Amino acid sequence: MKYSQQNARPKILLVDDEADFCVITALGLKKLGYDVVTALSACDALNIMRTNRPDLVLMDVSLEGQFDGIQTAEQIRSDFDTAVIYLTGHTDDFIVRQAKITEPFGYIVKPVELGELKAAIEVVLYKAKTESELKNLNRRLEEANQKLHDFAHVVSHDLKTPLRGIRRLTEWIAKDCANKLTPDGRKHVQQITERVDRMYSLIDRILEYSSVEDKDEDKSMVDLGELVNSVTEMINSPENVTITIENQLPVYECNETRIAQVFQNLLGNAVKYMDKPQGRIRVGCVEEEFFWKFSVKDNGPGIEKKHFDKVFELFKTLVPPDKGGGTGIGLATVKRIVEMYGGSVWLESELGKGSTFFFTLPKREATSENEKSAATATARKQASIFRGTAI
Ligand code: ADP
Repeated sequence: MKYSQQNARPKILLVDDEADFCVITALGLKKLGYDVVTALSACDALNIMRTNRPDLVLMDVSLEGQFDGIQTAEQIRSDFDTAVIYLTGHTDDFIVRQAKITEPFGYIVKPVELGELKAAIEVVLYKAKTESELKNLNRRLEEANQKLHDFAHVVSHDLKTPLRGIRRLTEWIAKDCANKLTPDGRKHVQQITERVDRMYSLIDRILEYSSVEDKDEDKSMVDLGELVNSVTEMINSPENVTITIENQLPVYECNETRIAQVFQNLLGNAVKYMDKPQGRIRVGCVEEEFFWKFSVKDNGPGIEKKHFDKVFELFKTLVPPDKGGGTGIGLATVKRIVEMYGGSVWLESELGKGSTFFFTLPKREATSENEKSAATATARKQASIFRGTAI
């Protein structure tokens, strides 16, 4: 629904074929702080809609003329997406049923009481403003996602080609000039190769992150226990690190690749950053009322509390690349995927003792945008309760 006014006086179009009623009600509304334009017919109303772009329409249901109030409201909703409140002298069931089809934002029964009208107008304007802001945010988010996606593909293509060339040249230098290079020279050539590989990995991971989009993907019932087992095999952790599944994981309807990415990043990090001679990583799951709550717990180095939110940001890495750190994309990807499913992700950790990463997945998948936003809000609330922090 459109809502254009930000700070100015809200603009209201009052449509009623009774001229006296229009004058008196318009005066009252002006006193209440609204800008009011009036129309005595459907034709006038539609003209004003085109030129004045009001924020809200007050519509007499039984408007006289070629089109009645309900038809005019229907036209306004479809052409201008503006909120309509009906004014009706009738509480007749048939009219109310007809009017309901046009999804009005309220009914006021005549004679109109100004206080009641103001309350209805304020509620509708507030709703229209919030909806409009949400739509704008969603649109901007979609644009940003699209830009990131396009950018990632261009970068991938344009950067990978010269990188491939650099890698091949360094291989040739290392091979053909092996005798001519000093030990330092050989070390530098080796460093170039390593950095090129890191760049390759960075590009692939950016692509992976940017491909997580909020669109319908192939979904199937996935046994998450089996999925974690195959991710564990793929990670191929060193012998001193064990990964165990603590309890049965559910069969969940999802895109297998996406949820595998989540576990792969969490388990991969737990292995990568393990600093204990006997590394223990445990995957668990608890059934909550609306969510499955998963955990990946390790006895690794732990993370300082001040970094709990930071680690989920894109490109934020606490360990520099030359000290074994990565690209800082893994946890951002996890967050993106989990939130796409209407869940939430967070961590608990104690320095020196280990970390537990938690994430939730809703039991029933949200279908509409509103349901998804509501699910994410609930998941965040749940997460903050689990964490014991206020939201
Ligand atoms: P990357 O591992 O590529 O740097 P991530 O987004 O996966 O990026 O992780 C961000 C940072 O969070 C890492 O640099 C690391 O410092 C920290 N981190 C992630 N997982 C763990 C873990 N299990 N134990 C300790 N530190 C971790």
